[in-house]
Amino acid sequence: MGDITHATIQDGWFREISDMWPGQAMTLKVKKVLHHEKSKYQDVLIFESTDYGNVLVLDNVIQCTERDEFSYQEMITHLAMNSHPNPKKVLVIGGGDGGVLREVVKHECIEEAVLCDIDEAVIRLSKQYLPGMAVSYNHPKVKVHVGDGFKFLDDYKNEFDVIITDSSDPEGPAESLFQKPYFQLLHGALREGGVITTQAENQWLHLPLITKLKKDCKEIFPVAEYAYTTIPTYPSGQIGFMVCCKDASRNVKEPLRKWSPEEEAKLCKYYNSEIHKASFILPTFAKQALQ
Ligand code: SAM
Repeated sequence: MGDITHATIQDGWFREISDMWPGQAMTLKVKKVLHHEKSKYQDVLIFESTDYGNVLVLDNVIQCTERDEFSYQEMITHLAMNSHPNPKKVLVIGGGDGGVLREVVKHECIEEAVLCDIDEAVIRLSKQYLPGMAVSYNHPKVKVHVGDGFKFLDDYKNEFDVIITDSSDPEGPAESLFQKPYFQLLHGALREGGVITTQAENQWLHLPLITKLKKDCKEIFPVAEYAYTTIPTYPSGQIGFMVCCKDASRNVKEPLRKWSPEEEAKLCKYYNSEIHKASFILPTFAKQALQ
């Protein structure tokens, strides 16, 4: 167990100050610091907040809170999974909290879900402090590998139907996961007709980065589209995804597979087939930049 204080906590409030969102900062009221350690790769802080449940923070950046994580985990997962006709083998890069795995195994058609996160500390601590997210680590179809996602992908060709990159921001160990060579590796590791989603930052804050990301993806995948979800505890209340497909005829903006409304209501709290379509509709300033 670590300190009961942390540099980011002042007067009982956690403050998420970073050059990645200049002049603004999310603050959350802290009830109790649950854990703090410096892992091999990053500063890991877990605290209980007064209103958002337990919160995972890596290198002073909020990764997930128990109250709103479902919006991100459901969207990054089901936008990809429901854009594939029959996903059997799925890879998650990053995602050590386990939330994306929890969503992947909701699809009964899958035969195997592999997760590769660089940091064992995130996996270990999520099992302890974020049990609602880490719930699927014991699922019989799940395999876990601790290592760098970039290096891991290099060993696989034509292997996966869907690959979901649930990474932290590009400053730190996830830097390589936002660059063109990584998208080339993703393309190579996908089977024919395969689909990827990646965490693709915020349209209010990171338009130049998203524009470059989309351009890079378009040079590798015939289909590359930006979608987004709303989420209170990510900077500016939104986060985006790149959704790409190897099959030029696929329209990822429309779900290819749908649950019934009853199944949808039972399985998901944010994702539904209507919001799948709506999430690709962008405000004019972002649409113009990404055209
Ligand atoms: N949704 C979150 C967000 O946008 O803030 C990300 C959550 S998830 C906890 C991010 C994970 O990516 C972390 O567990 C981190 O260890 C992992 N990660 C960072 N760089 C990585 C890399 N190169 N290979 C594999 N996993 C990586």
